[in-house]
This record gives sequence, C-alpha cells and structure tokens, in this order.
Amino acid sequence: MEKLLMTPGPTNVPERVLNKMKENMIHHRTSEYSKIFRELNERLKFVFQTNSNVLTFPSAGTGALEASIINCFNTGDKVLAISIGDFGDRFIKIAKIYGLNVDEIRIPWGKAVSLGEIQDKLKEDHKGVIITHNETSTGAVNPIKEIGEFLKNKNLIYIVDAVSSLGAIDIQMDNWNIDVLATASQKALMCPPGLAFIGLSPKAIDYCKASKMPKFYFDFLEGIKYMEKSEPQNPYTPAVSLISAANEAITMIEEEGLQNVFLRHKVLAEKFRGEIKGMGLKLFTDERVLSNAITAISLDNGNGDEIKSRLEKEYNIVVAGGQGATKGKMIRVGHMGYVDDYMIDRTLDAIRKVI
Ligand SMILES: *Cc1c(COP(=O)(O)O)cnc(C)c1O
Repeated sequence: MEKLLMTPGPTNVPERVLNKMKENMIHHRTSEYSKIFRELNERLKFVFQTNSNVLTFPSAGTGALEASIINCFNTGDKVLAISIGDFGDRFIKIAKIYGLNVDEIRIPWGKAVSLGEIQDKLKEDHKGVIITHNETSTGAVNPIKEIGEFLKNKNLIYIVDAVSSLGAIDIQMDNWNIDVLATASQKALMCPPGLAFIGLSPKAIDYCKASKMPKFYFDFLEGIKYMEKSEPQNPYTPAVSLISAANEAITMIEEEGLQNVFLRHKVLAEKFRGEIKGMGLKLFTDERVLSNAITAISLDNGNGDEIKSRLEKEYNIVVAGGQGATKGKMIRVGHMGYVDDYMIDRTLDAIRKVI
C-alpha cells in the first residue's frame, strides 16, 4: 500500500504540485518568473486573509520565526511570549538568543493560554506579543482572535507562529490585528518543505524600519523592496521550483474554497477524535482547545514509540511521536493539508489493529 504521511509536516503532496517540481528552471530576472511570483503573492494574501504583502524565503518555518525577531526588534526590547508547548519554547529561545528581554507565560502542555492571563502579564513597555497558533507538540490551539482584539491599537506588534495551522484552521491576519504571521510550505499548505512565508502589516514594517539588529539575507525591507518592483522579484536567487509548486498548491485551495478547506479539516478531525476515543484511547489535549490539524493521543504506559514504529512497518503509515517530556508517551497524528476520508479511515483502521 502507498505510504501515508500522517505527520505534522512534511505532509502528503498532491500530484499536481509534484508535477510543478519537475518543470525546467526559468531565470529569476525574467517576466516569466515575475508573473509566477506575483501570482503566488496574491494567492498568499488570500490564504493569509490580508491585504499586505507576504514575503517568501527559502527556509524552514524556524527561519521565519528567527527572521521575525531580527527584523522587528532591537536588542534589549521587552516582549511578552507565550508558550504552550515545544514550539512556543523554541520561539522564546530564539528571542532570547538575540538579546530580547522576554517576559514569559508558560502554560502546562495540553492547554491553551487564556486572554485573562495575557491581560494580567501585559505591560506598557512590551514591544511585542509572541505566540503560537496551533501548538503542534500538544494539539492545542490558542485564542488568536480574542487576543488580537484585545491588542488592537496597543503600542506593540502581535506576532503569530501559524506554521502548522495556516491553510487548515481559520486565521485572519487583518481582521484579527496580526502584524507578523509566519508559516511554512510543508504542513497545511500541501507543498514540499523549503519555503517560509511571512505576512507583514504596515505597523510591522514600521518596526522593521526601526530595527538595527544585524541582518543581510533575511532582511524583510529588502524583500518588500524587490516585491514592489513593477515586475516583482526576490533580492537573491529564489527557490524557483518550490515557488511554482506553492503557487499550484494554493490554486488548489482557491478552487476548493478556503471555508471548505477549514470545514474539511474540522469534519475529518472530529471523526478522527471520535473514533480514537471510541477505541478507549485518551486525547492528550484539553477538550476545549482541540486542534483540527493534529491529534495528540496519550499513551501513558509508554508504548508510543512501539505503536508508531508498527504503524510504519506493518501499515506504511507514518505518524509522529511525542516531543520533550511526552516522548514515548504519545503519538501525534497530523491531519492537515492534502488529507481526505480515505487517509483518515486507513489510519484509524491501522491504529485499531495495532493497539
Ligand atoms: C513545524 C513547526 C515549526 C517549525 O517548522 P520547521 O519548518 O520545522 O522549522 C514551528 N512552529 C510550529 C507551530 C510548527 O508546527
């Protein structure tokens, strides 16, 4: 049976998108390239739900997080960062490495932060709020909209890591007052790994102008400058094949309809969770904040790695294990991006047999 990648990235890539990767190179200083790059930017605005430009860099998602810090801040700037799991921790680590003065809110794994906790900790001199949308290590989703409404008109920028949610769970950059929205190609956006996408609000661009942190390749303002040419380009050689693939993948999202894509994720996630509970298995995550992109299943007896390896060897289905303290005590099943009923059923059937 064909291999199923039920991991939280990389995810299954549709044939249509793979075919784009096979096309011969085009030169990146030609109108032919500019046309594709312009189309991709417009399509990215559509999935980011923004009127602002969305930058594309050849990088993993982590590069987008790092680039956000070095472009928007100065050493010593005070920020409030919220971690509800491993990826929240990573963002805090990056901010600290660059000398930001980080006030942290750390929430026990499996839960989400509440608006009240942010209201309690937010201070006048915080220049940014940094948060994860969908915490991929735990399957919990933070209340990005409510926080964005509270932060509106405050003297700071709102930075959201949506690497595992954008394209699976609704996130509205403009309506929810998000200033920096970061994601990557290989999760819900149905592409191979290798591209990072960063939406920047006009306010975020002002923060970039005030930032004196050293940077060269990952300079957002340079990226914007080249994007705003009459024939949009990138400052340096772009990942042409991946850009073409991403353009195709988001065309597929356009064709399906963004709301339909979110609904498909919701229906499949609910079915998956329901059946998992029906098998007597326990979800790791607080029922009130469950993710429609990934399900974390608790295996307190520590046989998570064994189940994971049997699913792969016997059923050709790849799932992820636990990260950090949950290693061995969890499996995480990604149901994001190019996922359908057949994939969910095959995964459920295999889990049922293995346990
Ligand atoms: C996967 C992921 C990242 C890191 O992405 P890479 O492409 O592996 O660097 C960051 N944040 C979240 C929430 C993720 O799911």
